[in-house]
Amino acid sequence: PAKTEAILSARSLTRSFQGFKAVDDLSLDLHQGEILGLIGPNGAGKTTMFNMLAGSLLPSSGSILLDGKDISREGAEKRLRRGLGRTFQIPRPFPEMTVLENVLCGAQGQSGERAISAFFRPGKSRQDEARALEKARHLTDFLMLSHLENEKARVLSGGQRKLLELARILMADPKVILLDEPAAGVNPTLLQEIMARIVTLNEQGVSILLIEHNMDMVARLCSRVMVMALGQKLAEGAPNAVIRDPEVVRAYLGD
Ligand code: ADP
Repeated sequence: PAKTEAILSARSLTRSFQGFKAVDDLSLDLHQGEILGLIGPNGAGKTTMFNMLAGSLLPSSGSILLDGKDISREGAEKRLRRGLGRTFQIPRPFPEMTVLENVLCGAQGQSGERAISAFFRPGKSRQDEARALEKARHLTDFLMLSHLENEKARVLSGGQRKLLELARILMADPKVILLDEPAAGVNPTLLQEIMARIVTLNEQGVSILLIEHNMDMVARLCSRVMVMALGQKLAEGAPNAVIRDPEVVRAYLGD
């Protein structure tokens, strides 16, 4: 069960685009050990919020704390090394690299071929290499991609790419993961598997912030949800209560 101290905090985050506030003075606490849902109609500002939390977009104002430390000005790779990982709605693995090589990229907390050449650089100890390889294989297995480990990433389905991206992030041993629509475009069988993996990670102590439109999945995974609309917080609470909130219903119908 989640403790109440926040592992990730957003304090009064605002992000403007040419004067338009996509996120408007929003605060959020992700508690240690919880799965918090972030929902809301299209255009609510969820992706902008994720981009700021993950470090791919700087806030116009406000701050972000990870385990009490202000990380607001740090880039995405630095944040990943600190234990804050994120997935994208549409993952983009390196298409010509194998599944296993893509996963190994995460060992460096950096991206691309540079990571792979650093991984295989001569000075690196055999032991480190073996350890990373073992971990990559373990994660590839955990995410049901073992049979594809030597295939190029370009042959993977959309759902498999999501699994690959998660494996890559897990190489960095994150304590917080921001999951952007893990269910979108995934077939129902794989979806059950993905949900089970999310639960396992959470049981291992990973705190999770989840953007998801599949309300059944949100209700099953999340103890708490925050609803955004027009860049602001519209409601917060238990999933089943929140989705019956008349204001929330109205926000979705207006979409
Ligand atoms: P959601 O993920 O909830 O659908 P977004 O964060 O993608 O919402 O978008 C929130 C609002 O901010 C939308 O009106 C969108 O058009 C606007 N927006 C997002 N990114 C940009 C950008 N780079 N430039 C201009 N407007 C943007």
